[in-house]
Amino acid sequence: MDSKLPDTGMSIFAVMTQLANDCGAINLAQGFPSFNPDERLLELANKHLHAGANQYAPMSGVPALRHAIAKKTADLYGRQIDADTEITVCDGATEGLFSTIQAVVGSGDEVIVFDPAYDSYEPAVTLAGGVTRHLPLVITRDRPDFHIDWQQLAQSINSRTRLIILNFPQNPTGVILTADDLDALAEVTRDTSIYLLSDEVYEHIIFDDQAHQSLACHDELWQRTFIVSSFGKTYHVTGWKVGYCIAPSKLMAEFRNIHQWACYSVVTPLQHALADFMTLTPEHYRELPRFYEKKRDRFCDLVRNSRFTFTPAAGTFFQVLDFSEISEEDDVNYSRRLTREIGVASIPVSVFCEQPPPGRKLRFCFAKDDAILEEAAGKLCQL
Ligand code: PMP
Ligand code: GLN
Repeated sequence: MDSKLPDTGMSIFAVMTQLANDCGAINLAQGFPSFNPDERLLELANKHLHAGANQYAPMSGVPALRHAIAKKTADLYGRQIDADTEITVCDGATEGLFSTIQAVVGSGDEVIVFDPAYDSYEPAVTLAGGVTRHLPLVITRDRPDFHIDWQQLAQSINSRTRLIILNFPQNPTGVILTADDLDALAEVTRDTSIYLLSDEVYEHIIFDDQAHQSLACHDELWQRTFIVSSFGKTYHVTGWKVGYCIAPSKLMAEFRNIHQWACYSVVTPLQHALADFMTLTPEHYRELPRFYEKKRDRFCDLVRNSRFTFTPAAGTFFQVLDFSEISEEDDVNYSRRLTREIGVASIPVSVFCEQPPPGRKLRFCFAKDDAILEEAAGKLCQL
């Protein structure tokens, strides 16, 4: 049968997890915690399963969860959003991204992504009939972490540009946006009809006392923005696949027009459990940065005496390590070899890029118990 996605192949996360399982390797490739969520969240899920919350939820999501999301958005980002018309609970962030792209992008439209870019964006654009334009994040002398080149972005915009996709804190590099970046984005998109899709699934995993610059904070940007997030990262429940999209009501109406045909509604008892848990533990968001910062520091300390080079991640639960001083092999082959030969699986960063990124880089997930990080780092230090 002819494929609608002939060039995409299987997701690197599926490929590397399969290889890790086959080899009995430590899986620092796919991003998921090795630990369980808070026991109270599990009890709430159990309670709602047994209390009869087992039939379809409303198409836009359980009201209590939408209200909890509205409260969080007001508390953290100062944006008052209407729980009835500006929030939709999704089947993980993945469906939120997919439905936004189908709602916005038409045949021949151009969509700008920043490389290294998360792997689900381009296939969704292709299926919508659009064309993905990849702009590399750049490293400069005055700003040595990966960041957007605003001049390059301004020059890349044309009359066909329909959507710009952003993802900060960024998977895989862990870099974040500054308040100046938001102003620069507003300037570049002012007087255009370009929409913005901001993938903020790591909004609560940000380190060194930095504040997450949500596009919801910015009055001008918010008018043209869809924000997608995921409870999977925030509550250590990636397997629950519950996320959400927020957007101004006119944009949200079109989002729902797609969402209702993509999945209609999302797993009911887990939505109730998340709503209760959000209300019960408002401190969870404030404590998560420190929790993951300690894991980042632990992992970085453990590999500091290895031959890998790195800049500690500013956010996300991923650390990129450069192996240029260890091997000249390409990152795809090297990550497979490390999985097979030393028993640690990672993700090669070049798979997220149209053009090879500078250096030779692998992404490691540090959302793991310390004993796992210690065992993996011990192996990496032998290289
Ligand atoms: N966007 C990014 C940047 C991600 O890293 C992930 C998953 N880790 C997703 C979207 C998908 O989230 P979900 O599992 O909720 O679909
Ligand atoms: N987002 C996760 C990661 O970056 C993986 C999600 C998936 O497996 N589809 O590792």
